[in-house]
Amino acid sequence: MITSKTSFIALIGNPVSHSLSPIMQNAALQYLGLDLIYIAIPCENENLELILNSLKKINCKGLNITIPHKQKVFDLCKEISPIANKLKAINTLKLNHKKEWSGTNTDVEGFIYPLRTLNFTKGQAMVLGSGGAARSVIQGLIDLNFTMISVVSRNKSSLDELIKNFSNQIEIKGLLSNDFQAQNLIEDADLIVNTTPVGMKKTTYEINVMPYGETFWRSLKSKTIVYDLIYNPAPTPLLKFCAKKGCMTIDGLQMLVAQGMKSLSFWTNGLEVPFHIMNDALKKYL
Ligand code: NAP
Repeated sequence: MITSKTSFIALIGNPVSHSLSPIMQNAALQYLGLDLIYIAIPCENENLELILNSLKKINCKGLNITIPHKQKVFDLCKEISPIANKLKAINTLKLNHKKEWSGTNTDVEGFIYPLRTLNFTKGQAMVLGSGGAARSVIQGLIDLNFTMISVVSRNKSSLDELIKNFSNQIEIKGLLSNDFQAQNLIEDADLIVNTTPVGMKKTTYEINVMPYGETFWRSLKSKTIVYDLIYNPAPTPLLKFCAKKGCMTIDGLQMLVAQGMKSLSFWTNGLEVPFHIMNDALKKYL
């Protein structure tokens, strides 16, 4: 029951109306019996500082930060975790004992959760896309002791920057999406992760698109696990295609739930949050 003692956690971004976080977080808060609710607050760029400063003063117990504020929020935090610094993105905040914002990033833990559940570590991986999510994925693959990573992108400048960022930590190679060498790497990959938004639910004419087109996937072997970060639709056209080829597939819903689970644990100083409660709430909703 919401009473005059109930406090809140919020998602700050723009837009936020499509977000699934309130569904899974409120299910978890209720299950854990915490006197907290989770709400989504739309926030324009120019209001970010004002809103974050105001939330400090009104008993807010934590925040999730989403597009387009994941970088801008750095300037408003007094403490930043090593992982958020490394990824150059913050997705979770809480107030420290001095009532100042402390920021971290739970995307890496979210990404590796389904792979750890499968006991899947080491091997060769291919990452598609070179944006923000690719950064978390590459860090996750390094944490899981993968031996070699290739990154395929259509964007040379973000690709070069990404490779430069991680090249002192792992054997990592960047390829443009029209590079013929990608075929050999697809054939050898133990894991392929799509971090491009291609296949996301949008308009009907885009329904069957796959990253870099269907011919890009011609050398895919059934031994490869294919992981798509997109969670709507689940499965995506890519995952349907790969499942038909006999590959094991992982959709983005597990990552979404696991990063939310880690955020809730951060806000509650390490409380164990059951994955299935949040996952079931989303499955029921979608
Ligand atoms: P981002 O920073 O915008 O990066 C997207 C990447 O995909 C860029 O390299 C971009 O290249 C590339 N790309 C975009 N459209 C493309 C196209 N039509 N063909 C080929 N490449 C294309 O976005 P992000 O934050 O990394 O997010 C990427 C996806 O991951 C989104 O679908 C997001 O919903 C999903 N995601 C899911 C979770 C989860 O919890 N499951 C978490 C994070 C992200 P350009 O630079 O050339 O545009």
